[in-house]
Amino acid sequence: MENAKIGTKCVQGGYQAGNGEPRQVPIIQSTTFKYATGDAMGKLFDLEASGYFYSRLQNPTCDTIAAKIAELEGGTAAMLTSSGQAANFFATFNICGCGDHIVASSAIYGGTYNLLAVTMKRMGIDVTFVAPDCTEDKLNAAFKPETKLVFGETIANPALNVLDIEKFANAAHAHGVPLIVDNTFPTSVNCNPFKWGADIVTHSTTKYMDGHGSAVGGAIVDSGKFDWTKYADKYPGLCTPDESYHGVTYTERFGLGGAFITKATVQLMRDLGSVQSPFSAYLLNLGLESLHVRMKKHCENGLAVAKYLENHEKIAWVNYPGLESSKDYALAQKYMPNGTCGVVSFGVKGGREAAGAFMENLKIVAIETHVADARSCCLHPATTTHRQMNDEELEAAGVSPDLVRLSCGLEDAEDLIADIEQALSQI
Ligand SMILES: *Cc1c(COP(=O)(O)O)cnc(C)c1O
Repeated sequence: MENAKIGTKCVQGGYQAGNGEPRQVPIIQSTTFKYATGDAMGKLFDLEASGYFYSRLQNPTCDTIAAKIAELEGGTAAMLTSSGQAANFFATFNICGCGDHIVASSAIYGGTYNLLAVTMKRMGIDVTFVAPDCTEDKLNAAFKPETKLVFGETIANPALNVLDIEKFANAAHAHGVPLIVDNTFPTSVNCNPFKWGADIVTHSTTKYMDGHGSAVGGAIVDSGKFDWTKYADKYPGLCTPDESYHGVTYTERFGLGGAFITKATVQLMRDLGSVQSPFSAYLLNLGLESLHVRMKKHCENGLAVAKYLENHEKIAWVNYPGLESSKDYALAQKYMPNGTCGVVSFGVKGGREAAGAFMENLKIVAIETHVADARSCCLHPATTTHRQMNDEELEAAGVSPDLVRLSCGLEDAEDLIADIEQALSQI
């Protein structure tokens, strides 16, 4: 499957049925696995043989779907997690701890911002946020001797900034640290961060990968390209024996292609247990099978809606990276020439009240705390997720009071536009 195109990988990656075996990926809904001797199981615990023994560490269904996502990203290894939040926490916490430091783009998902700025800070991990469009000097100035990684989002949720992946990768590598990129919004179909120098990719599979609003989940993929052993003193967790796991040295035993994911599995998953259920992995795979077909339609609808809104007299502004008027259009063309995503943000003239009234008039588009679903949905942060903030506080958080985030689903664009038109005509 390695040389196949992305659509073929979406449909058939990760799993090839043998003679007389199920054509669809089987759901191995079992917590544990049977062995004839204690010795045979002991070898699994020692990581001397590979096999399954307890589904908190590994499960065949989850591994099959993780292998598909590794193929989609062109990585060497991958793991599923219970959510996108768990994926970003594991990906970062796998290589940093108390006293360490992270450089992150400020244009990231609110949950990830909070994870880095509040929760990981309580663990003694410090973070410096930089604007995604900052100069190289400004970016380089954010690094400290304790910096262990750089973090960004390929398309930021909800600000929709496009990350200059090469700029961030070059700065990270010049300081001897990897770049971790959350590729949730464009997905592996529209953007391949490894091609541009990213070292590790994460996903909230809850979004387009699942695509049907049916299962919360996450994934981490390793490119296998970052040479931890070159900076062994900086990454002792990967390059020196792990006393909590029978003295194994991950880079020695599993090579650069397997060290990161093996450590995250046998150490973090063992201790923190944020596993995805085999049934959720099965649902995720149903979504993955049509991801390449759906992304085209999401992008088509996103662009059609963005173009319509751009010319509407009741709309103050539109932000969509696929629009030529977008400040990130050139970056979007470079990193995701086949399309960006189906999420459009815009301002309704008349501010907070007008935006709220507009949304309540929508019939096909539903008000939801979600994006990247087959069904179109929208959210007005000023009256929902950010409702405790006044207008000044909203502006400081990068969320204007009139901002509406609209996630274009898979319906016909004509119907979405007609729905928006009738809702705007009533305000
Ligand atoms: C939703 C989202 C997350 C968090 O994922 P969950 O699956 O909700 O935990 C992380 N990053 C991005 C870009 C997201 O959109």
